[in-house]
Amino acid sequence: MIKVTVWNEYRHEQEEERISKVYPKVIHSAIAEFLGTNEDIKVTTATLYDENNQLRENAGITDELLADTDVMIWWGHIAHGQVPDEIAIKVKEAVLAGMGIIFLHSAHHSKPFKLLMGTTCNLGWRESDDKERLWILDHNHPIMAGFEDKRFIELEGEETYSEPFGIPDPDKLLMIGWYNGGEVFRSACCWRRENGKIFYFQPGHESYPTFYNKDVQRIITNAVRWVNPQCRIKLECPWIARLEEK
Ligand code: ZN
Repeated sequence: MIKVTVWNEYRHEQEEERISKVYPKVIHSAIAEFLGTNEDIKVTTATLYDENNQLRENAGITDELLADTDVMIWWGHIAHGQVPDEIAIKVKEAVLAGMGIIFLHSAHHSKPFKLLMGTTCNLGWRESDDKERLWILDHNHPIMAGFEDKRFIELEGEETYSEPFGIPDPDKLLMIGWYNGGEVFRSACCWRRENGKIFYFQPGHESYPTFYNKDVQRIITNAVRWVNPQCRIKLECPWIARLEEK
């Protein structure tokens, strides 16, 4: 079983009625629900704010949770700054040791993503109900499994994200998003950082029903299996004895 933790800042759904109408079961539960239909995936959720709109200690992330998570999924937007630095560092170190991680949409500015990238992760953005067409660049990558017959997928409405995207070159770029406002964006990017695999996926603005889209659900599900580690490696820099006699 792949143990997945879906982390959400859980702010928009509690603060704005128009968002809670799109995600009445909240964003983390919407993601947990479709992932949980897979027999090889076991999902839990963690949130920065609890259901009474109170800030949780340690952003809801304990050492035990990190040790028991194979794959973390991160959704955040307006509360990136409320995640304690020491928690972001622990998430980064878990990834370096092997934990897989998927950053969704506005998680491009989350502390763990910026720590793992080492760059600004800035981009251009606009909310104007643009249609997005995401072009598939590599049908043979495991994250694109099931799209053999498609050249692209389309989302009727998404927030527009635009290049330049302030990231290090992805080890593998899987999709380029095009918007009918004219912009393009590197929408599905893969990296390795030491022992951990990282996937960034751009769709998922809170005011659109993106996480109910079957293509989006398939890509996130495939990504969970792709970033899932074989094992966790202890991060250490040990003195080592000679193996052979002099
Ligand atoms: Zn957004």
